Amino acid sequence: MDAKQKELNISTIKEVLRQYLQEKGFRNTPERYTILEEIYNMEHHFNVDDLYLLMMQKKYHVSKATIYNTIEIFLDAGLIRKHQFGEKTLTSSSYEKSYFDKQHDHLVIYKKDSDKEIQEIIEFCDPRIQGIKDSIEEAFGVNIDSHSLYFYGTKKD
Ligand SMILES: [Zn+2]
Repeated sequence: MDAKQKELNISTIKEVLRQYLQEKGFRNTPERYTILEEIYNMEHHFNVDDLYLLMMQKKYHVSKATIYNTIEIFLDAGLIRKHQFGEKTLTSSSYEKSYFDKQHDHLVIYKKDSDKEIQEIIEFCDPRIQGIKDSIEEAFGVNIDSHSLYFYGTKKD
């Protein structure tokens, strides 16, 4: 993506956030926009600790409580999505930006003989999943808005 497109995308999501905060009557604080921009500049999945460290490195002083609270807002506003990568504690849930994303699914690879320690997360897009969705919609007379699919495994020797 070129720099100009990126800039355009950032202003689009900031506008989505601005409208959301206004509708909900939440405070329109500048750090929410800063956090949002940092998330949209990231290329991969992140958890709260990653985001907190990133903000510290950039010398933005936000508390972890603010980050948790802001993440809840972004989730509700449809700006990020939450993932179940199989981490054991709730606090290490992963997230990713979602506003411009194509639908994709995830293959979670754990380190061998570890207790669900993640080695790698691969994103994939398989058109057959769309086909399944279409036939389920047809068979049950529903519109499917979203789905959730994760594969978990380890690397073969
Ligand atoms: Zn992803």
